[in-house]
Amino acid sequence: MRSALAIGFAITITTASAAVWAQNAPAPAAPAPAPAMAAAAPAAAPRPTLPACSNPNALGVERIVQIDTTGGPGFGFEHFKAYDFLRDKEVVLTFDDGPWPGNTERVLKALADNCTKALFFPIGKHAGWHPEILKEVAKAGHTIGSHTWSHKDLTKLTPDEAKAEIEKGIAAVSIALGNKPVGPFFRFPALRHPPEMVKYLGTRNIGIFSTDMDSFDFKIHKPDQVIKSVMTKVEKHGKGIILMHDFQHGTSEAIPELLKRLKAGGYKVVQVVGKTPIEPLPEYKEAVLKEMGGGLDEARPMSSVIQTIQGN
Ligand SMILES: [Zn+2]
Repeated sequence: MRSALAIGFAITITTASAAVWAQNAPAPAAPAPAPAMAAAAPAAAPRPTLPACSNPNALGVERIVQIDTTGGPGFGFEHFKAYDFLRDKEVVLTFDDGPWPGNTERVLKALADNCTKALFFPIGKHAGWHPEILKEVAKAGHTIGSHTWSHKDLTKLTPDEAKAEIEKGIAAVSIALGNKPVGPFFRFPALRHPPEMVKYLGTRNIGIFSTDMDSFDFKIHKPDQVIKSVMTKVEKHGKGIILMHDFQHGTSEAIPELLKRLKAGGYKVVQVVGKTPIEPLPEYKEAVLKEMGGGLDEARPMSSVIQTIQGN
C-alpha cells in the first residue's frame, strides 16, 4: 500500500502504511507495488522498513511519512498551521538536546523495546562530544535532524551568527555520524523563531519542527510528572507532535512507562523521514572541526588525513 498526496506547493507527504509490516511476524519481503505506481514512481531512496518485533504489547509504528522539505515547510501547531498531516490518535515522538550518555541510551532502549521510532534534534556540540551515541541513534533507524551548534536563542544573534549556529549544528551532526548527510529537519532552540532564519531554512530546503505538545520536561524532573504532563496534553489534543528531551534524566526514566501508556490509550506512532537529506556546507564543517580540536578527528575520512604521495 502506498499513496502519495500532494499538499500545497511546498510539500509532498508520502505515507507508507506500516500495516504491511506486521509487528509480530518476521519481516516480510517488500510488497510489490501496484503496477501503475511502479511505472510512475521515480527513483527514490530505499524506503525505511520496520524490523520484526518480538514484543506483542509494543507500541510499534503505525505508518512512516516521508516529507519533501523543499522550501522549508513548518510543522507543529504552536507556530505552523499549514500541514495537518496526523490523523486522530497519531503522535510523532521528538527528542531534543542529546546525545547524552545514559539518558539518550535509556531512551533508545525503550524505543527499541517498543519497536517504535522517533525524530531526534541533537545539539551540535553534544554530537561532537558523543558521536558514538549519535551513531547508535542512527543505527536504530531513527530520524536525525539538527538543533544548532550550541543552543543559543537565535533571536538574540545577528543573522550571520544565527546562520553559523544553524550550519555548524548541521555540520557537527554530519561529522558525528561519520560524514553522512543529515535529516532535512530543524528545531529552533526554545522554539524562538527569528523570521530571517525561517526564511534562510527555506533556502536550504530544511523543514522546521515546532510542536503541538510541549512536555516541559526540562522543568519537570520526576518521571511520573513527565508522564502525567505528556498524557494530559495528548488526551486534550487527541494527536500531535510531542516535544521531549533525551538529554533529560527524568525523561529517560519516564519513557518506558510513557510508551506503555500511549499504547494503552490507543495512540499510534508516526515516523517522519525526509525525502532529501541535507549536506553540510564545507566552510562550517571546517569551523566545527577546528573548534572541536582533536575531538572529531576519528570521524574524518582517512583519505583526508593520510595520502600516499610517493610509491604505490
Ligand atoms: Zn533544545
